[in-house]
Amino acid sequence: MPTAMDIYKLLPKKNCGECKFPTCLAFAMQLANQKVALEACPYVSPEAKAALEESGAPPIRLVTIGTGELAVKIGDETQLFRHDKTFYHPTMLGFVADDADGLDAMKASIAAAQSMSFERVGQMVRVDSVALRHSTGRPEDFLEAVKTAAGGKLPMVLMAEDPKVMGDAVAVCADKRPLLYRATPQSIDSMIALAKACCFPLVLGGASNLDELAQMADKAKKAGVSDLVLEPAASNASSMLENLTIVRRAAVKKKFRPLGFPTISVLGNSESDLMKAALGVMKYSSIVLLRDVPREFLFPLMALRQNIFTDPQVPIQVKAGLYTIGEPTEESPVLFTTNFSLTYFTVRADVEKSKVPVWLLVVDTDGQSVMTAFAAGKLTPESVAKSVETEKVKEKSKRNAIVIPGMVSRMSGKLNELTGLKIVVGPRESSGLPKMLKSIGP
Ligand code: SF4
Repeated sequence: MPTAMDIYKLLPKKNCGECKFPTCLAFAMQLANQKVALEACPYVSPEAKAALEESGAPPIRLVTIGTGELAVKIGDETQLFRHDKTFYHPTMLGFVADDADGLDAMKASIAAAQSMSFERVGQMVRVDSVALRHSTGRPEDFLEAVKTAAGGKLPMVLMAEDPKVMGDAVAVCADKRPLLYRATPQSIDSMIALAKACCFPLVLGGASNLDELAQMADKAKKAGVSDLVLEPAASNASSMLENLTIVRRAAVKKKFRPLGFPTISVLGNSESDLMKAALGVMKYSSIVLLRDVPREFLFPLMALRQNIFTDPQVPIQVKAGLYTIGEPTEESPVLFTTNFSLTYFTVRADVEKSKVPVWLLVVDTDGQSVMTAFAAGKLTPESVAKSVETEKVKEKSKRNAIVIPGMVSRMSGKLNELTGLKIVVGPRESSGLPKMLKSIGP
């Protein structure tokens, strides 16, 4: 974002007050703080407007792929390192269905991508896109697969280097806003024309180096295509990491606009490709496309992505309160844990394994785990006793006892004193809960 003085230099300096501020400088200060819109001044020249929009744009352009509830936003990152602040838009993961494998195999890949989702720590994690590639197969099969994918909700990537085939594919999914892959130095003019006509985002790739890639981006932008995705050359994992890092660094640190776009890595399914996929999720692929990936690899990759794109300053939390597991009665035991999502879901899964119905009291610790919260003074006998009272635990269970995490056994005496409940010290790890719950019974 430009400073107030940068903005002021571009304003008309009439001090007329029509923007509701007495001077242009006052207006510039409000604009720098994003409290007003530039349109409030009727006298800004088109040149100044373009310059201000350009300087106020994010270092990496935000690009949307697909439409509807599953549309994916990529780019708009502001950091090199996640721990400095956060990464905002998770890497888009997708399967490639290639017409070289025939139509049936393409349809199977589309179905696999559409069904690949699961819940982890309270969030739905899924494969976000399906990519249809025309390589050595029949164009009719490719188009049929595009139609099939267009019938679903997942965002699509159309992969064809022949502008004619790409044009035909665009025509059958005109309302889906797919990503067009890709314009090369040889096809850039025709692909830019196509992307401009349909207003779809476009991948630029095939450049021999980053300078050439930046020139291609410049050319596309001047031609009116700004929703771009860059594919830097990546002959091996090392060059992939190097080029993606240079692109991110140039965009974020140097504000080098020609490289200020999201990136894509198109991979296969060899062991080195799987390693590159994990590398891309961490640094800095906005999109990773893979072929025929086994679930045992894909699930950890999705969990890795979830971890990388979680705000490190805001722990994932569940709502504090009294939860039921199974159908607990007045005879069922009461356990407590904290509202850090990972802790809650781990405890919950371990309790479910026991098949013993349980009342689970979740204490608000601002999303911190048991030991962290205890050390930080956010999990105290007083806070647990308050939750016991607020959630009317003694009315729900007549056992007059509460199972506490083994790691905080030190709070037993005080908690007993405050609540009158018998304190049962549970295992140090929740994996010990099934055995313990079976022994104390419902
Ligand atoms: Fe300055 Fe424009 Fe505001 Fe007039 S309307 S004071 S020219 S910023």
